[in-house]
Amino acid sequence: MRNAEIAAALRELGVLYELDGADRFRVLAYRDAARAIAQSPISAEQLSAEDRLTELPGVGKTIAEKVSTLIAEGEIPAAAKLKQKFPATLVEVTRVPGLGAKTAKLIYEEIGVENLEQLKQAAEDQRLREIRGLGPKAEENVLSALEGVTEDGLGERLLLSHVLPIAEEIRGDLLEMGVGSRIEIAGSARRWAETCKDLDLIAITDDPGALAEALATHGLSAEARGGGREKASVLTHSGLSVDVRFGSDENFGNLMQHFTGSAAHNVQLRERALARGFSVSEHGVAKTKGKKVHRFAEESGVYELLGLPYIEPELREGRGEIEAAESGELPELVSVDDIRGDLHCHTTLSDGRNSLEEMAEAARKRGYAYLAVTDHSASHGFGDDVSPRRLAKRIEEVRAYNESAPRGFRLLAGSEVNIGNDGEPDYPDKLLAELDWVIGSVHTNFRMNERKMTDRVIAAMEHPLVDCIGHLTGRLLLRREPYGVDVERIVEGAARTGTMMEINGNPNRRDLNEHHAKLAAEAGVTIVCNTDAHGVDTLDNISYSVATARRAWLTAGQVANTRAWRSFAPLRKRAKES
Ligand SMILES: [Zn+2]
Ligand SMILES: [Zn+2]
Repeated sequence: MRNAEIAAALRELGVLYELDGADRFRVLAYRDAARAIAQSPISAEQLSAEDRLTELPGVGKTIAEKVSTLIAEGEIPAAAKLKQKFPATLVEVTRVPGLGAKTAKLIYEEIGVENLEQLKQAAEDQRLREIRGLGPKAEENVLSALEGVTEDGLGERLLLSHVLPIAEEIRGDLLEMGVGSRIEIAGSARRWAETCKDLDLIAITDDPGALAEALATHGLSAEARGGGREKASVLTHSGLSVDVRFGSDENFGNLMQHFTGSAAHNVQLRERALARGFSVSEHGVAKTKGKKVHRFAEESGVYELLGLPYIEPELREGRGEIEAAESGELPELVSVDDIRGDLHCHTTLSDGRNSLEEMAEAARKRGYAYLAVTDHSASHGFGDDVSPRRLAKRIEEVRAYNESAPRGFRLLAGSEVNIGNDGEPDYPDKLLAELDWVIGSVHTNFRMNERKMTDRVIAAMEHPLVDCIGHLTGRLLLRREPYGVDVERIVEGAARTGTMMEINGNPNRRDLNEHHAKLAAEAGVTIVCNTDAHGVDTLDNISYSVATARRAWLTAGQVANTRAWRSFAPLRKRAKES
């Protein structure tokens, strides 16, 4: 049994418990265990056989026993029992983004919706609005969420942060085994998309058989999925489908170009090629008249033949990049090396895992010139509330650190304040004024209507001591839909008030998303790339934030924290006010 199947069964059981009204902690326990098993590089079946399943984070004895029954008998008795209580198809209804078990159960009990088809019908017939708490907006959301279902299947996509480590590990191991002389990541992972359907690798190899064998027996592989002369495919324990294409020195560039995509980019490129008498495919660029086929070791050759400069993978989405390349107007994209400091992270003072000193040291080692420590404010609700008095003490600690800090590095005393229902921050102004940097974020009361939520964020931006808005839409990729906000109005408000907006680099968030970030930058809003790190390890998430900035076509000049502190500092609203 693959990890993905075991995880799916646990997730289903969690949802069934939730439908049955179990307490939140029990439901969360199953969800966490499912995630740990799905992401485990080792076979859970094997771990279970060795009685080692509880070594996975979040997997306790009870869940380990359920898994071993599942493997032995093909089902979990508790789940089978609950499935007699609710229609089995109701579980898929709970997975529609924005619904959840509570709402699904309500819709089931009130108007008898048992499956996705009935849900769609109910939304189309405007019957959801008959249910308390749901309105026309909910119907709209359901219909747009279900549109995604037919295209991609619900929940089959994986986060990029799940895919990239697998890609790097397989790539590294195959290279080390010597079954390929060059192996690169292609596809949506190379374009740094938010989520991926599968993983494409391109390999130069003179022994495809050996490579296929090495891939099939790799520790991450759960099963071989066939292949042939052109590729080998496997499915990993975590449910990721991996294709490795075989190439040579002669056509590596053609394969990279073709399999990096996107489909939209390649369609536009093929149209351009046709107009010039060429046809483009993974096999090469062929003259439509005649037999000559151009093959290239590097993909820049493909673009050059079509009269274009090289186009960065993050731009290849069919959003005007070919026209921009044609007219010499491709942006010089910001890169991770341009970033001079991080302006959003947490320590043990709130819900972080490392101390102030540890975070500072890690930032300094990365070569940063500054790090703003922005623990959650008082009314947050994650526990560990930072009282005004404790924050005042934190400011002292930061000042003391800077007294003896190594040259060229400084800590900034900051806070991530919760934006209240009317847009007010939850510390007194006098205290906020003592800080170097304040991020305002919405962490509570997500279910406001769009107009109210927009007003709320704009009100926060009007505050002279709120320097930046954190993770604007509150979305969690594949888990929680963004709350409704009018991004255009907010961007306009940010430009008017001089409030910065962050691209949050938590790979679950990437918020602003690439469309919003582009919109904001074009409106003249100052953008910062942050990690929202909750430990020294997640400072690495700057690569996801920068990737979103690159997919938004941003240059280093458009990202404020590529500047040294002395030229960043005056950009803050608080610096302009005084
Ligand atoms: Zn936050
Ligand atoms: Zn945060």
